[in-house]
Amino acid sequence: MIVASVSNQFFTTLAYNQLFIDISRRIGMDLGGSHFVGGEKTDDMVKQVKKLNSNGIGATIDCLGEFVKNEEDTKKYVDNCYKAIHAIRDEKLNAQISLKLFSVGIEVGQETAIRNMNDILQEAKKYDVFVTINMEEYKNCEGIISAFEALREKYDNLGIALQANLYRTETDVERLDRFSPAIRFVKGAYIESGDVDINNKSHVDENYKKLVKSHLLKGNYTQVATHDNDMIDFVKKLVNEYDIPKDQFEFQMLQGMREEKQRELAEDGWNMVVYVPFGKDWYTYFMKRLAERPANIGFTFMSMARR
Ligand code: FAD
Repeated sequence: MIVASVSNQFFTTLAYNQLFIDISRRIGMDLGGSHFVGGEKTDDMVKQVKKLNSNGIGATIDCLGEFVKNEEDTKKYVDNCYKAIHAIRDEKLNAQISLKLFSVGIEVGQETAIRNMNDILQEAKKYDVFVTINMEEYKNCEGIISAFEALREKYDNLGIALQANLYRTETDVERLDRFSPAIRFVKGAYIESGDVDINNKSHVDENYKKLVKSHLLKGNYTQVATHDNDMIDFVKKLVNEYDIPKDQFEFQMLQGMREEKQRELAEDGWNMVVYVPFGKDWYTYFMKRLAERPANIGFTFMSMARR
């Protein structure tokens, strides 16, 4: 636990170190970032998504926005999202959008975030593009869920990620049931305090399976976002047992993680979607992934070694 906390602090400090950010922007992604990030520019992202699509794999595109501090930053972020939506339309990509409410300004103000989301969702809706709101640190969880509720009243092209490591998630799913929403289930990337976080791997895994099973059996669209074979095999068995149609769910993984498994799932006829982050904030995204779960460091190096 102490090692995890020190390593979390270490990578979080690096993620926001201005010198390293400047160096990373100068050197670019040759340092290894390109394995995990779809590039710095829209064109790079389009290439990456086309590559996935040619292997029968869909994408969910995150236009990274890690340094949004004021209204003006949020406007730039919305413009980047428009560019991504238009690229999906123009290039006929099999792709959706994923974003953090932080990037549209939830820390600037709830109204700012909702106004920006309205703009993004309207544009996305025109071209039938689905948008998923990522889940962030626990302190933002309530604000994100209530923003989702307000937006989902108007837009059916909107889903949300929920974290199996939190005690509150089961109640949150019940709270959102009235929308029959698409939910992306994740185990949770943030280390939270013991009173809110289940904080025990096997209990989190059990909770993950319970949440996914219940959501699928209600007939709701389910995004199974995990690299864990145990979770994947559980879902495969479940859908066979209950005759759940393949178009009611999809597996999701992060770019650069378990690429062989991604291809295998797609080849076997399962819906497979890869999370493709892109933009100039790639370095901070990359470092934060290492900070959130120290185990990712091992997977990161293993994945790089396998290239
Ligand atoms: P873990 O519990 O980390 O690992 C379990 C087992 O899986 C490992 O023991 C190993 O056997 C296997 N495994 C895992 N990774 C690898 C690998 N790379 N190579 C080989 N074996 C591996 N978190 C949030 O908090 N909010 C979000 O909005 C969010 N969105 C996400 C979107 C997507 C598409 C994905 C895939 C993840 C997202 N996450 C998000 C991160 C998530 O919460 C987890 O931190 C992350 O996915 C690690 O958990 P896991 O289920 O993949 O497996």
